[in-house]
Amino acid sequence: MGDQVTRKPELAELQFHPARRKAANAVQTLVCLGLVVLAVLLLSLLFGRSGERIAVQMCVNVAAVVALGVFCGNSGIVSFGHGAFMLIGAYLSGILTMPAGLQRTALPMLPDFLAGHELGVWVAMPIVALAGLVFAAATGSAIARLVGASATIATLGLLIITHGVAIGAREITRGSQTFFGVPRITDLGVALGAAVFLIIVARLYRESRWGLSIRAVRDDPSAAIALGINPRRSRFIAWCLSGTMLTLVGALYGHMLGAFSPASFYLPLVFAHVAMMIVGGMYSVSGAVTGVVVITVLQDTIRQAEGGFDLFGVTFPAVFGLTTVALGVAILLIIWLRPQGLVGREELGPGSSSRMFNTIRSGTKRAAAPSIVGDGVLSAEHLFKSFAGVAAVSDVSFKAPTGAVTGLIGPNGAGKSTVVNLLTRAYEADKGAARFENADLLKISREGIARQGVARTFQNLRLFGQLTAYENVLVAAFASGQGAQGAAQIAIRELAAFDLDDMAGTAAESLPYGARKRLEIARCLAQAPSIILLDEPAAGMNPAETEDLADRLSRLGGERGVGMLLIDHDLRFVNRLSSRIVVMNRGQVICEGTPEEIRADPAVIEAYIGRGRTAATAQAAQNQEDEPSRGVVET
Ligand code: ADP
Ligand code: MG
Repeated sequence: MGDQVTRKPELAELQFHPARRKAANAVQTLVCLGLVVLAVLLLSLLFGRSGERIAVQMCVNVAAVVALGVFCGNSGIVSFGHGAFMLIGAYLSGILTMPAGLQRTALPMLPDFLAGHELGVWVAMPIVALAGLVFAAATGSAIARLVGASATIATLGLLIITHGVAIGAREITRGSQTFFGVPRITDLGVALGAAVFLIIVARLYRESRWGLSIRAVRDDPSAAIALGINPRRSRFIAWCLSGTMLTLVGALYGHMLGAFSPASFYLPLVFAHVAMMIVGGMYSVSGAVTGVVVITVLQDTIRQAEGGFDLFGVTFPAVFGLTTVALGVAILLIIWLRPQGLVGREELGPGSSSRMFNTIRSGTKRAAAPSIVGDGVLSAEHLFKSFAGVAAVSDVSFKAPTGAVTGLIGPNGAGKSTVVNLLTRAYEADKGAARFENADLLKISREGIARQGVARTFQNLRLFGQLTAYENVLVAAFASGQGAQGAAQIAIRELAAFDLDDMAGTAAESLPYGARKRLEIARCLAQAPSIILLDEPAAGMNPAETEDLADRLSRLGGERGVGMLLIDHDLRFVNRLSSRIVVMNRGQVICEGTPEEIRADPAVIEAYIGRGRTAATAQAAQNQEDEPSRGVVET
């Protein structure tokens, strides 16, 4: 007892609260900044006079890799395009700040609008940033449409084209010759300041609604769309922010080098940055920082050895190319031992360990549950869909009102999931219509359907695996247009409603199965929908869990008036909740009515016997109410 009393305050300290999550994020950011400062000190200690030069280079690399991570880490798409942005930043800033006299000799053919500005570096920066943003928007409108390898290849194409254009545009860049006369202003203070600034920007973005949205898209695009998130727009925003940041870093890099050529921003630099990002861990800002720090320290330590050295009286000879080979081996080793990168998926610092922020502090303010006003009806009207000539759904019509639960049952392959996919446009219907209230669902965008108040879950769980349970729900509330505070309170409410308030800080992929199933429903309710389409919410749950879920759902229906279209194999579960049931078989609606009516319908019984069931099974279908087992239709 005494033990409990003394331990209680300590536990309370570790509990989850939206404000505490923010504080933890701030501390995580400080950890990143501390890491950079420590590395700078370490470099001057290790390498004496040349240490400062290495430290400047490292800080510029930290800034570059962190900016690169804003797109790559959050979208999950590796990009090589950042060399293009850095090149533009360096040349543009160089031209704008170059002394006019020098410019006349170095760039005699420079177009008038670029010539003779001789701006201060800090005056030039906003112009450079704006140019970066414009270039990012122009290229992003195409690249944001792509995912995976095709997106990566497109970014490589962007790099190659920009490099080629820079070599060709001799009047502006001196072609492949050295471009010189750029004021060298990037000292340790400037470089460190830039690194710190960009780390803060990257962290703020990562935790913002846009950062959460793009990370949700990365983890599961279909589920993100079902929340009303537009994947293209999310990628576009990430690309534009990352590109603008990289253009600024490029300018600083140019002001560090003083003289450079297009090759300075080409494959060697680009690959080095990508390697640093992957070694540290692509998915976090701490990973980007760690990757740069570790590789810089390794590289420069090995480089010292390249020219030969003495160790305990033994003289090692000079080995040409040692740095490259040893660095390559080190990178391979790290990737082999830690495929997620040194840092892994979570940020360094407090709060990233799920154990700490798991339980929501009691009394944390939660939003009041909304209740649905009006009497919307979701209706499927003569829907048809075939796959390669095989009809999966043919001429399906039914209505599901808000304020009630409509069951949708039928044997495996009957077409139930296809109907949900048609209603939410995950599949395009061949024919037919779907309406909710006054909207024709098949004529609005997939994201728009969520905004109409129609939310769904998936038969095969689709959670945002790397986001925590809290963030999964939070991102849904954001997507429905909530502000930061409202979204947090909604997330707390839904986690509590589904008994997830002691798993708030756990990554969705690490939750037990039952909790993941509940989280998907909680996430869909955070959108404040009028009707939810639940595709086998109880599948894989044990009888106790199913019972518990039925209690929660019936409470929800009663308190909030949310309509439900409920698909499940567990007929007891469906019968208990539904006021009406639609039965499908072989793509068609074979019966519709109250649970009692469908139980007595010969066509329903035949549908099950038709699948090779015995007469005893049909009897069981009729006696569902007395039957304690899990229904007649099994997966
Ligand atoms: P249910 O959810 O009732 O078990 P589904 O709607 O998943 O049934 O499937 C209905 C039929 O459509 C099945 O024959 C299935 O094989 C087919 N089907 C569903 N989705 C696809 C798809 N993406 N491609 C091809 N066939 C599909
Ligand atoms: Mg199904």
